[in-house]
Amino acid sequence: MKKISILGATGSIGIQTLDVIRCYKENFQLIGVTANSSVEKIKEIIDEFKPMYVAMNDESSYYQINNYCTEKKYNTEVFVGMEGLKKVASLKEVDTVVTSVVGMIGLEPTLEAIRAGKDIALANKETLVVAGEIVMKEANKYGVKILPVDSEHNAIFQCLQGNKLEELDKIILTASGGPFRGKNNDFLKKVTVEDALKHPNWSMGKKITIDSSTLMNKGLEVIEAYWLFGCSYDDIEVVIHPQSVIHSMVQYKDGSVIAQLGSPDMRLPIQHALSYPMRLKNIAKKLNFYEMNDLSFEKPDIKTFKCLKLAYEAGRAGKLMPCILNAANEACVDLFLNKKITYLQIPEIIEECMRKFDYLKTVTIESILETDTSVRNYIYGKYN
Ligand code: NDP
Ligand code: MG
Repeated sequence: MKKISILGATGSIGIQTLDVIRCYKENFQLIGVTANSSVEKIKEIIDEFKPMYVAMNDESSYYQINNYCTEKKYNTEVFVGMEGLKKVASLKEVDTVVTSVVGMIGLEPTLEAIRAGKDIALANKETLVVAGEIVMKEANKYGVKILPVDSEHNAIFQCLQGNKLEELDKIILTASGGPFRGKNNDFLKKVTVEDALKHPNWSMGKKITIDSSTLMNKGLEVIEAYWLFGCSYDDIEVVIHPQSVIHSMVQYKDGSVIAQLGSPDMRLPIQHALSYPMRLKNIAKKLNFYEMNDLSFEKPDIKTFKCLKLAYEAGRAGKLMPCILNAANEACVDLFLNKKITYLQIPEIIEECMRKFDYLKTVTIESILETDTSVRNYIYGKYN
C-alpha cells in the first residue's frame, strides 16, 4: 500500500490523481491534501477519502475547513499557509507526494518533501524550472525518486527504461502546437482570453492552458527535461505533433527512436508515476490504431511563438535566468487572464524582464525567492 499526499488536490491534476486512487484503493491510500481556497472541493474530498491531514493556503478557507471537520466530527488535522503546505508535504505516514500545485509556490513544499525522504510524483514543472539544480541535488542527497507526471517527461522516462543515458542521442519532446498553430502575428494580436483557453486536445488548469497556447509550456518542459534527464539543450528537440498520440520520444546513437504512445489522458502518466515500477490496468481509453487517420509532425514556428525561443535562451543562460523567465511568465499570464495586457504582450514583457534583471547572482533558495518577487513587483507595478 503506497501512502500519498497531494499538494494541489483540487486542480486538474489533483482531481485526476484522486480518480486513480479511487480505482486502486488496495494499492493507494490518501493521507494528506492541500489547496489554496477551493473549500467546497476540499469538503467533498474529506467526505470521500477521510484524509488524516489537510492544509489550506488561504486563511479564511482554513477556518471554514477546520469548522467543517469539527462539525462532522472528523479526525482530520487542518493546517494553514505555507507552513501547512510544508507539513502535508513531509508527513511521516506518507511515501509519495504528488506535487500538483500550479506555479513556483510549489518550490518550498517540494524541497520539504524531498528532505523528509518522500518520493515525488512531479507535475509542478515550475519548481524544476526555477530551482532544478537545487531540487535534483537534494533528491540525490536524500535518495528519493523524482517520477515525472508531465506526459512528455513520463513518456521519456518510460523510453529510457533498460537503456543507457550515455547512448542517448537526443530527446524529442512533442507538442500539440495549441489552439493557434499555423497562425501569424496579425491573428495573435486579436486573441482573447476565451480563445486562448480552448485547448484542442487536453483539459487543464487555466495557467497551463495559456502556456500551451504561447508554447511557453513547451519551453518550461525543455528546462524540466534538462534537469530530469541531464542532457544538453542542443540535445532536446521540440516537434509539433498535433494529434498528441506520441507523448515524446528518445533517439539513441544508432538512430533507433523509441516513442511512448497513449490516449491524451493525464490519468495514464499519473498512474504510471504512482505505481512505478509496477504497471496497473488503466481506466483511460485505449488507443485504437484503426481510428487514427494521420500522425503528423512539424517544426515549431519560434518566430511567431517567441516564448519557446526565450525559454531555450533562459535555460542556456542558466543561473537565475529561468527564474526570471518563469516569474515574468506567471505574472503575465495572470495579467492576461485578468485582461490587463494583450496576448502579444506576454512574450514582450518576459523578454523585457530577461534583459532587465541581473541573473548572474549565486543560485540559492533565497536569491530565487528574491528574484521572483522583484520581477513580479516590477510587472504588476508597470502593467497592472
Ligand atoms: P490547476 O490550476 O487546475 O490547479 C492548481 C492547484 O494548485 C489547485 O489545487 C489550487 O488550489 C492549488 N493552488 C493554486 N495556487 C495556490 C497557492 N498559492 N497556494 C496553495 N495552493 C495553490 O492546475 P493544473 O492541475 O492544471 O496544474 C498543476 C501543475 O501541473 C502545474 O504546474 C502544471 O504545469 C502541471 N501540469 C498540468 C497538466 C494538466 O493536464 N493540467 C499536465 C502536465 C503538467 P485551489 O483550487 O484552492 O485554487
Ligand atoms: Mg506536458
